[in-house]
Amino acid sequence: MLCTAASIVLGSPALAAPSYDAQAKALLGSAKYKTAKAKIAADYDRIIADIIKLTETESPPFKEKTRGALYKEMLAAEGLADVTTDEEGNVYGTLKGSGAPGPVFVVTAHLDTVFPAGTNVKVKREGNRLAAPGIGDDTSSLPVLLAFIRAIKAAGFTPATDIVFMGNVGEEGPGDLRGMRYLFNKGPLKDRIKYFISFEPGRADRITNAGAGSKRYKVTFTGPGGHSMGDFGIVSPAYALGDAIKQFGEMKVPAKPKTVFNVGIVEGGTSVNSIPFAMAMTIDMRSEGKTELDAEEKEFLAIPPRAAAAENAARSTAKGKVGYDIKLIGDRPVGAVAMDAEILQKAVSVRNAAGIKTSFGTGSSDSNIPWSMGRPAITLGSGFETHGAHSLDEDMILDKPTDIENMAIGLATVLLIADAK
Ligand SMILES: [Zn+2]
Repeated sequence: MLCTAASIVLGSPALAAPSYDAQAKALLGSAKYKTAKAKIAADYDRIIADIIKLTETESPPFKEKTRGALYKEMLAAEGLADVTTDEEGNVYGTLKGSGAPGPVFVVTAHLDTVFPAGTNVKVKREGNRLAAPGIGDDTSSLPVLLAFIRAIKAAGFTPATDIVFMGNVGEEGPGDLRGMRYLFNKGPLKDRIKYFISFEPGRADRITNAGAGSKRYKVTFTGPGGHSMGDFGIVSPAYALGDAIKQFGEMKVPAKPKTVFNVGIVEGGTSVNSIPFAMAMTIDMRSEGKTELDAEEKEFLAIPPRAAAAENAARSTAKGKVGYDIKLIGDRPVGAVAMDAEILQKAVSVRNAAGIKTSFGTGSSDSNIPWSMGRPAITLGSGFETHGAHSLDEDMILDKPTDIENMAIGLATVLLIADAK
């Protein structure tokens, strides 16, 4: 998901860099663009049908294969070149540009949802409301990319840069951005990505230009365990965990840059009259600042040893001591796109030309990986109004004219960045 922590305006980008407003205005006023937009409008029912088809093909974390294969077929049906699945599971194909081969522009949406295998993903339709787990995030974006390809072709646009349209894996929590880690660090395109846009649910006014970083850990306290009556007085991982949770909850974090923490899961124990062998917590820390996230992590890492030592001092260790294991389970880097970067400036100019006020935001999405490497990327809303991401009653509300307007702005952004003629 794109978890937008806050919508903040980071200065006025139009003042800081060359403006592409005139180019954007010319594009939006062109006959070709009007043809492209008309194609999106004509395709509206097909886009919705594809959203339903893809939503009903479940795609749990690490199990995106079936949906990936379906989306690959859809990409191939649009006539893209070199349609492929990479070693990590990302599926993509290329719309050839007129320029020299080499640099590519990756336009992607993620295939994975947060829902486990077996979740009922049948889409319920009531009037203009479509509801099913995962329908918005990010399934609603995948068919929009297909519509972009058809619109570009119908209008006869040729991009200067090759555009790689992609459905990627591993965006959601447990996947820890594995699709993008592979793409930018190991995959065949890793040194060729000149521009990168990830589309997430939402309207076109939204540009995510900075990514909050996060660190996620599972901490397990262990101990000898025993009978609640017979072994009373020995150390218990439950008290160590309780102490650790309390200390974690008392950490002081800055409001700006926004820095937060959460205990998401607490688990352990076997029965009400047993002193547990193991108790664990799974925690999440996030910050918009790298220094602040590092400081938060350092403070957190000092807690488990302290809590274990306190428990070992408080009760008998005759049967054994309380120990702890700290496991890093998620690590998303902090990053941002430069406010004067061409990709961001062009996206803003398209919105200016369309008379839309850009709302900038921070979030955690596929763009975190390129941002952390200093590479230009943005995350945009693909067009639909969606609600309840990550909940079982996730839905989208259809509003045809507005949806078409918003999708067309996404397309115009891709066209301007790709320097399509
Ligand atoms: Zn998403």
